Amino acid sequence: MVIKPKVRGFVCVTAHPAGCAAHVQEWIDYVKAKGAVKKGPKKVLVIGSSTGYGLASRISAAFGSGAATIGVFFERPSEPDKTATPGWYNSAAFTAAAHKEGLYAKNFNGDAFSDQIKAEVLATIKKDLGQVDLVVYSLASPRRTHPKTGVTHKSCLKPVGQSYTNKTVDTDKGIVSDITIEPANEAEIADTTAVMGGEDWEMWINALDEAKLLAPGATSVAYSYIGPEVTWPIYKNGTIGLAKNDLERAAKSINATLKCNGYGRAFISVNKALVTQASSAIPVVPLYISILYKIMKAKGSHEGCMEQIERLFRDQMYGGMGLEFDDAGRVRIDDWEMKSDVQAEVTKIWPDVNTETLPQLTDIAGYRTEFLKLFGFGLPGIDYDADINPHVEIPS
Ligand code: NAD
Repeated sequence: MVIKPKVRGFVCVTAHPAGCAAHVQEWIDYVKAKGAVKKGPKKVLVIGSSTGYGLASRISAAFGSGAATIGVFFERPSEPDKTATPGWYNSAAFTAAAHKEGLYAKNFNGDAFSDQIKAEVLATIKKDLGQVDLVVYSLASPRRTHPKTGVTHKSCLKPVGQSYTNKTVDTDKGIVSDITIEPANEAEIADTTAVMGGEDWEMWINALDEAKLLAPGATSVAYSYIGPEVTWPIYKNGTIGLAKNDLERAAKSINATLKCNGYGRAFISVNKALVTQASSAIPVVPLYISILYKIMKAKGSHEGCMEQIERLFRDQMYGGMGLEFDDAGRVRIDDWEMKSDVQAEVTKIWPDVNTETLPQLTDIAGYRTEFLKLFGFGLPGIDYDADINPHVEIPS
């Protein structure tokens, strides 16, 4: 089958297996070129490991410090006339590359929120690795079926308290328009926290701890976002921001658990706004990202997921100098994004952006390139007119 991108709003419904593999290889090459992270992690569980920040974390661990990795994700394999999701192809490519270098890599494709996947992962850690010294929690999900109540909670991206109107961009069509989003009700706020808050992270750590599968000194990290004031009503102060507050609460409780367990640690890393499948679904944020990319690329400080996580692992987590925390106890690898000169330019450009000025004032072209890359399109060296088998097995 010849696979071309089919973009529908903020998703692409096709993915290219060879392109996804090339994208994964780019990230692996980046990490290898940086050289070994000497005191890096050795046995790592990544929950949400198939795309975005989780995939970057798995690549950093495996190819930066030779770690054995177990990846958990929720992806769809190919069907006779349908490609797999990019996370499926990414995981296949990652696993093949890891095995080629003699690295242990196992995968669990299923619902990380379920007791069943947790039990299967725990049994495999016990059998194959003994213990893990790093647990990365990098889920971004629209829903969660609670393992104890059976209730399915759906997350939403809404402001809290009052409606919010701002500009947003249809990244596919290049049209800038105003959007008004009505505030969430109490049930929607609670549901979003149930999905994207910290309870499931705590469940994972408690289960690992009870089964004595956390190595002494083990680290756990989860990812969050804060961003500029222009997005606060929809992000930091919206339903997702409240869920992230709950993730911060969980970080403190998990940190206490891990401290008892041989001086381990848990923390939140606040990461940069980047094009991922999760962020492209948030209103207003893709327009901000398009402006941000333009400014940071001009300043030479632009980073993608791989650069961000490589810096987190090398400089902060395993640099030997200890973690640098902000006043709220979070690590900030969004530091370059939040620099005052960068944000002053965002504030200056924002009012002038409209459909006509979008190509000049923002890096909408770079946004689209990055977006298509997530699905394996636009990678150099790939013949996109060639017939390719969409069926790819993830090596076991
Ligand atoms: P992503 O959409 O690229 O990745 C999400 C991952 O979660 C995938 O591996 C997917 O398979 C997995 N997943 C989703 N539901 C699952 C389930 N039920 N069971 C198992 N796996 C499941 O997302 P991302 O943007 O990399 O986000 C990861 C984390 O980083 C999130 O907490 C997000 O808030 C945070 N973050 C993102 C940004 C950004 O701009 N993208 C910035 C800062 C922080």
